[in-house]
Amino acid sequence: MASRIPLVAGNWKMHKTPAEAGTFARNLLGNLPNNLAVNVVVCPPFPALPAVALKLADSWICWGAQNMHWDAEGAYTGEVSAPMLQALGCRFVILGHSERRVLFGETNEQIRKKVEAALSYGLKPIFCLGEELATRDAGEAEIFCLSQLADGLEGLPWANPEALVIAYEPIWAIGAGRTAQPADAVAVMERLREKIASWHGRDFAEKVRILYGGSVSPESIGSFMKEKQIDGVLLGGASLKLDSFSAIIRAAAEAKQGT
Ligand code: PEP
Repeated sequence: MASRIPLVAGNWKMHKTPAEAGTFARNLLGNLPNNLAVNVVVCPPFPALPAVALKLADSWICWGAQNMHWDAEGAYTGEVSAPMLQALGCRFVILGHSERRVLFGETNEQIRKKVEAALSYGLKPIFCLGEELATRDAGEAEIFCLSQLADGLEGLPWANPEALVIAYEPIWAIGAGRTAQPADAVAVMERLREKIASWHGRDFAEKVRILYGGSVSPESIGSFMKEKQIDGVLLGGASLKLDSFSAIIRAAAEAKQGT
């Protein structure tokens, strides 16, 4: 199996002013050794991106956005585009987060256009998918996630396995204080990887990073990272506090060392 560098991504959602985000970024950098075997990305709200970029410039920690439009420019009040994010030094962009899908009505078709645009600008999408509780209870979680994967990615010009990251985030675990069972997450991820292999070949699929997201904490990170299929985590709540974010980053790096 290809060894994949773990990734820990923090989605700050609609939290932190530019000043707060900049201070947090500086403290995060100061709180971690710079030789950890893990990639880290913070995704602040749009207005805080310049402050975060200033603090993390030339460091090993990346930053990214939480959303973007698929067009480069146009009459789209309230939207931002891939070249705008690129100009702020973003390397990643979260796309298809369930809060965008559920609260703001984003469709698979729109998300697919966003993924395609991000790829064409060299921004790495963190492509989110995941089922509602009723879908899991009906025994249809895997089939549902496979269809979201296909709707979002099948047939796209995705030439480099490292150009995109997938985040499996069961909706019922997000912000809920309860996680999926690692084995259930692995079962979904195996199906996703098989599907990617059917499109791009086994070698390609083995290089794609698949994250878990949903109420991960310093207490639960170990149980996810010990699974070979799980290449890291997308965090909401736990990325807002320096202690929990740092503890999870350290644990993710240590868990994959020597595997
Ligand atoms: C998320 O919103 O992507 C997320 C994983 O949130 P939380 O960690 O708070 O469940």
